[in-house]
Amino acid sequence: MKTALVTGASRGIGFAAAIELAASGYAVGIGYNASKDAALALVRKITSFGGIAMPCKADVSDADAVNHMVSEVIAQFGHIDVLVTAAGIAHTAEFCDATDTDARRVVDVNLLGTLNCCRAVLPSMTARRSGSIVTVSSVWGIHGASCEAVYSASKAGVIGLTKALAREAGPNGVRVNCVAPGFINTDMTASIDDEVRAEFADKTALGRIGNPEEAAHAICFLASDEASYITGAVLNVDGGY
Ligand code: NAD
Repeated sequence: MKTALVTGASRGIGFAAAIELAASGYAVGIGYNASKDAALALVRKITSFGGIAMPCKADVSDADAVNHMVSEVIAQFGHIDVLVTAAGIAHTAEFCDATDTDARRVVDVNLLGTLNCCRAVLPSMTARRSGSIVTVSSVWGIHGASCEAVYSASKAGVIGLTKALAREAGPNGVRVNCVAPGFINTDMTASIDDEVRAEFADKTALGRIGNPEEAAHAICFLASDEASYITGAVLNVDGGY
């Protein structure tokens, strides 16, 4: 059986990716940090349509916790074919107002969290000479966003990590790709007011913001064998921003 581990799976883009992977026949590790109830509800939802899922807890910024989570998933499923690193946090502030604590947390979760997860799964993927990692950056990691400099830097780091790992892991049969969403309707963006939503939508070719399932489709494509000759790619899911 094909297997996957999705971080940040309790809601939003990670949630949608976990459901799509499970519906495609993957046994899925539902990575969560604080939201145990939501993770368990997702496991029940997947089980209800005949899929296989297990909850697995880790704060992705904690390397030991991530290693433990990956060991648990391998112990249960035997191996991990696909890693999706959707866990992330937003941060909005004028650059000089971002506290050291805030800046470190954003980098710890978004960049080092992604790094911790990749480092935890790669040895077993390399040993099997097979695996696919999909990281989640952001259009702000490509273009940069005013008042989101720390977030943008963390997401640009995810792209650098993806491209470097694609080179390093490719000879071992492991692909590493990245999805860079634009404005996606999730809890992360729920507090953003209508004017800003409309402004973003106006700047897209499609004239609208996206939904988590649209980001998940791109993630699941890159994760799958359909993308067998794609590595080191950054796929924008941004409506043509
Ligand atoms: P969300 O806030 O709905 O979900 C984020 C998930 O990450 C949650 O399940 C949360 O519990 C988890 N998480 C946060 N910190 C964690 C930690 N330390 N350890 C483990 N899990 C943790 O957000 P979303 O919109 O679904 O975002 C998913 C990813 O997509 C994030 O990396 C985000 O930066 C990125 N992204 C989102 C958008 C957007 O518009 N929503 C745009 C570009 C990129």
